[in-house]
Amino acid sequence: MAETNTAEPSEQAPRPCGYSRCGRTVTRTGSSRPREYCGPPDRVWEDGRTCRQKAAEERRAKAGAGVEEALSAYATAGAPVLAATAALGENLAALREALTAHADRVEDVRAAAVARVRTAETEVADALRRVTDAERRAAERTAAADHALAMQRLEAERAEALATANRELERNNRGLERDLAAARAEADATGEALAHERTQRAAAEAALRAMGRR
Ligand SMILES: [Zn+2]
Repeated sequence: MAETNTAEPSEQAPRPCGYSRCGRTVTRTGSSRPREYCGPPDRVWEDGRTCRQKAAEERRAKAGAGVEEALSAYATAGAPVLAATAALGENLAALREALTAHADRVEDVRAAAVARVRTAETEVADALRRVTDAERRAAERTAAADHALAMQRLEAERAEALATANRELERNNRGLERDLAAARAEADATGEALAHERTQRAAAEAALRAMGRR
């Protein structure tokens, strides 16, 4: 039954104390949480600390040493990093300088663009003014042309009126000539009739005189 007894928790084998410099063994009781250190009242060091406290101190010291080691390694390995950082800083300075120069050039370009736009605006305004002037002159020429056309039309109308008047005058003249000819013919006829009557009267008088002499 000894085999079953070794498996019993309360009968576990002793193990070394968790503090590296202690050298004692800790008997595990098994009933509660397994012990890692020999502790009070079993052992207390001359500085009044327990093995648990000494072990914690040791761990802190080791951790501190680890940090120092890491820092040292970093300082050694950091030299090229520092050089790279310095180079990067120089690059950044050059980049900043380039960006400033670029910004200056951009400002120059912007100012030049603004100047060109203003010049273009002035030119457009001048061109518009020239177009307006040309339009006004064209309107004036059109008005003059209209005036000339109106004068031409007036001349034509006046000429036509004159022609009509002349035709009317000629027609009147022809009428007057016809009337005059008719009047002359009538006068002639009247004259002839008078002459005829005079002849007849003379004949009658002669006949009366002849009768009186008898
Ligand atoms: Zn101990």
